[in-house]
Amino acid sequence: MILILEANVDEQSPIFQQLLTHLRGLSGIHFRVHQEQGAEQVLSEIYLIGDTKQLRIEDMEALPGVGRAIRVSREYRMLGRHNDDQRGNGFEYNGVRFSQDTLHVFAGLCAVDTHEHVEQMLRALQENGQVCTRMGAYKPRTSPYAFQGHGKSCLPWVFDLAGKYGIRVIAMEILHEAHMDEIREALEKTGHPTGVMLQIGTRNTQNFELLKAVGRQQELPVLLKRGFGITLEESLNAAEYLASEGNTKVVFGLRGMKTNLGDPHRNFVDFAQVPVVKRLTRMPVCIDPSHSVGSRDAGPDGIMDVFHVTAQGVVAGANMILVDFHPDPATALVDGPQALLLKELPWFLEDVRLARETYEERKLLATAQAPI
Ligand code: PEP
Ligand code: MN
Repeated sequence: MILILEANVDEQSPIFQQLLTHLRGLSGIHFRVHQEQGAEQVLSEIYLIGDTKQLRIEDMEALPGVGRAIRVSREYRMLGRHNDDQRGNGFEYNGVRFSQDTLHVFAGLCAVDTHEHVEQMLRALQENGQVCTRMGAYKPRTSPYAFQGHGKSCLPWVFDLAGKYGIRVIAMEILHEAHMDEIREALEKTGHPTGVMLQIGTRNTQNFELLKAVGRQQELPVLLKRGFGITLEESLNAAEYLASEGNTKVVFGLRGMKTNLGDPHRNFVDFAQVPVVKRLTRMPVCIDPSHSVGSRDAGPDGIMDVFHVTAQGVVAGANMILVDFHPDPATALVDGPQALLLKELPWFLEDVRLARETYEERKLLATAQAPI
């Protein structure tokens, strides 16, 4: 059960203390307090865990400071949608709003390589009105002999360049909790010229200790990618690990499943599940067409598969697109064959705009139908 407290009932207030005293007296129930600083007010929620069947909604709503009580009808207590749950969704980070209604493109380098390439990429983004990017500093590689990413040494200059070109959010994968600390330290040292969304990659979706560590901080939002060999439900539970530790600023990423049934694509494209994730949870949904498709192959219509699957995800309501670009893919240290060229950026963005417009029209069409 979730208790949503009245606005501005903070931990110091006597009402809050009174409420906690009451909750401590309930047998077979333990609870966890979650507080979030909204734009104007502090929002507090208390998650009751255990034998909550014995509790009546009316009784809980009558407790001091409680605005509403919601019986959790499904799994994913914190990130899920529940019956009678009118809580909003999404969050704002560094001036950018992420929700199930917004759409942001994170075009950028799979892996940071040279200063010049990063600068060319960021300049192209600014010229095309973009404020988000992807930049890999820590790379999970299949072979221990392959390039592992520049790691923390590149962070200061990447952040400074991002600030110079007006980038507000960089999606950056981490493989270990120490990487999160390195990122926060570098942001601090450079004076926060930009922001970072921590990315948990598909190989770490069920690295529960990493999830808990990342969930314990609320400063940086998280992009959690689905695991490529586990069910959607298992991946959504992984997202819940982040929230249960305190960080609800979570975006869920679809990036394809590892199976030969999707050949010749690198992974079996799973963007049909965009509406499923939006229905089951309140998380914004990201698609990664580059790691799903894995090539620059095009159809006889001259449209690359990467563009086609992006459009499919956006037409279905995706909220974020992670996509690999590179100024010179032949020299890219990671994933060059799937990178789009900088001159293709305006084309890609226009294709996304068309797909998004179609999604908006499809929503209007659905709203205009008589209820069944
Ligand atoms: C990436 O985005 O660079 C990446 C490694 O993705 P994934 O975890 O989906 O393989
Ligand atoms: Mn990659």
